[in-house]
Amino acid sequence: MNSEILMKLVRYSKFNQEYSTGNTFGKELDELLSDIAEIDFSIQSAIHHPVKKNEKTVDKNKTSIEVEEDSEIPMITEEWAKCDSIHDFSAMIQGCTKCGMLSKGRKNIVFGSGNPNAGIVVVGEAPGADEDEQGLPFVGRAGRLLTDILAAINLSRDEVYICNILKCRPPENRNPLPDEISNCEPYLARQLELIKPKLILALGTFAAQTLLNTKEPLGKLRGRFHLYKNIKLMVTYHPAALLRNPNWKRPTWEDVKMFREEYDNIHGITNERS
Ligand code: SF4
Repeated sequence: MNSEILMKLVRYSKFNQEYSTGNTFGKELDELLSDIAEIDFSIQSAIHHPVKKNEKTVDKNKTSIEVEEDSEIPMITEEWAKCDSIHDFSAMIQGCTKCGMLSKGRKNIVFGSGNPNAGIVVVGEAPGADEDEQGLPFVGRAGRLLTDILAAINLSRDEVYICNILKCRPPENRNPLPDEISNCEPYLARQLELIKPKLILALGTFAAQTLLNTKEPLGKLRGRFHLYKNIKLMVTYHPAALLRNPNWKRPTWEDVKMFREEYDNIHGITNERS
């Protein structure tokens, strides 16, 4: 019920200037709010009396709604952001409709797979047709190549966690749009916070540029380690790109060898300490 209310608040915030208790949406909202004991009254107050600039009327400590000092629109802290289990988190976003076109066209949200306590997270771009069908990342041709690449550095898919920047398939496998990336990236950020990997392997331009917040081309980013929130991150080619251009297999091999060496170094330090 809470998420239903939060969705309505989001919708409401878009036209709060026109709100009156006489319209249909207002009545719906009133009924929902009156049902919910745990919602602080100050939320209802904020809805019926939209906040004016530089006016604070909501106690941030008592509600999940925060009001920016210079904003007329309530900012909503979404429930999933507080979730502390990957499994529950996945369940919570199954109905996500932030990207209208993607949510209408998908068969499944592809949240991620593998070990939720892994030391390594592999991040790709977006699900393709096979992934959308099965609800799992990297299960098509490119996925099989990823399995081989991991095996070449003595890693199985079960030892790592695999996910994408986007959780829904773009139509015709087109590139993700900037709005879609910014809609979905917070989910990935929270996944990484929960998994706490030691190393991240970013596959392809979109994963690399999104995680590193840069426009640098992949060719300049690969071959060395970067930092994502203090986690070491290596960039290399996406397996789908390797299928199109086998000449990139050698530089990819060099990247993943370096990645494996770093993983071993980290484990060496860990083993000495334990
Ligand atoms: S791509 Fe991400 S943000 Fe967009 S609808 Fe799918 S799950 Fe939601």
